[in-house]
Amino acid sequence: MNEQGLLVVLSGPSGAGKDTVLRCLLAQEKQIRLSVSATTRAPREGEQDGKDYFFVTRERFEALTAQGGMLEHAEYCGNFYGTPREPIERWRAQGDDVILEIEVQGGRQIKEKCPDSVGIFLAPPSLAVLEERLRARGTETEEVLSRRLEAARRELAHAKDYDYVVFNTTVEAAAQRIAAILAAEKSRYHRNHAALERMLEDAETFC
Ligand code: 5GP
Repeated sequence: MNEQGLLVVLSGPSGAGKDTVLRCLLAQEKQIRLSVSATTRAPREGEQDGKDYFFVTRERFEALTAQGGMLEHAEYCGNFYGTPREPIERWRAQGDDVILEIEVQGGRQIKEKCPDSVGIFLAPPSLAVLEERLRARGTETEEVLSRRLEAARRELAHAKDYDYVVFNTTVEAAAQRIAAILAAEKSRYHRNHAALERMLEDAETFC
């Protein structure tokens, strides 16, 4: 019934569990499309090009940005990240909901460009749990880890820029809450206004 698919932004500090919560959400809500970002970061073990990210050189990233190919982009801990514009616009025009898993500078750009987007901030249950999760991942050096922890503290202060905050106490509960937010957003009057108008027009032709 909704005309255009929802544009959903999920942000939260590194280690808050965005990937795991998203996987759980997408396993239940199969109609949601997940945007694949471009990044200049080197792939981590097991990450696949085109699936986890499009891994590109800095030159390629800059060229894509200059051509207007990114819906938003930001520098995070010394690497560039950006959302390719074309698939997002195509999916939304088809009526598909799209979710972006991005950091807060990108989240702000999306809210400015698309005020109708839905911002969800995923917070860890505590900073101690966040540090534990980052260390358990074991993919970062001590230096990168401390930069990410510092970035996490700064990012928590940006929760106020989002429409919703979800605490990741358990993955299932957090995914369920996000699913509930999306269901409520899809039922908002302004997203259904055109369908209701059409219904009224049809009713007039019957009378
Ligand atoms: P990671 O290097 O751990 O995969 O990601 C680092 C941060 O970059 C995470 O907070 C992640 O959400 C964010 N990120 C991933 N893709 C994008 C993107 O396309 N744009 C922006 N602004 N941030 C992104």
